[in-house]
Amino acid sequence: THAEPVLVSDLVCDILKLLSPRLEKSRISVETTFPDPCPRIDSDLEGLQSILINFLENALDATGSGGSIRIRCLEEEGFLTLHVQDSGPGIPPESRDRIFEPFFTTKPHGTGLGLAICRKIIDDLGGDLRLGDGPGGHFILTIPFVPFSS
Ligand code: ADP
Ligand code: MG
Repeated sequence: THAEPVLVSDLVCDILKLLSPRLEKSRISVETTFPDPCPRIDSDLEGLQSILINFLENALDATGSGGSIRIRCLEEEGFLTLHVQDSGPGIPPESRDRIFEPFFTTKPHGTGLGLAICRKIIDDLGGDLRLGDGPGGHFILTIPFVPFSS
């Protein structure tokens, strides 16, 4: 698909707006950091949106009232990296290998499909999705990225 390139910051902020009722209700603060100038992307924007929604919904589920979520975007040689980190309890060691499996959930009404879908979308983009070593939930998304000239 050849969508108009969008600023990664706009992509992220649109999703945060969408989730703002839940974020406000739980008094969860969100901090975002982007490179300056912020990179633009045009590949699988819908896929990236659904990944962000899944990450943030999981972070919301994990983070109690008054918690925080941090989203950091980094631009490296040929790659764009997004870190999504929350102040929740994180993933217990015994679950770390299983959370990307379809239907693996620790929630009473969870589907266990969120992260499996994220992984599929990222695989199709030739990117990578992995757990970070932050103290809370920490997910790292890397996608191949060529800056637009203009
Ligand atoms: P679901 O949200 O339906 O449970 P997911 O595939 O989105 O399915 O997540 C699978 C499991 O991974 C969750 O049930 C939870 O145990 C764990 N998990 C995902 N994100 C986080 C997070 N931010 N903090 C703690 N645990 C998480
Ligand atoms: Mg989920």
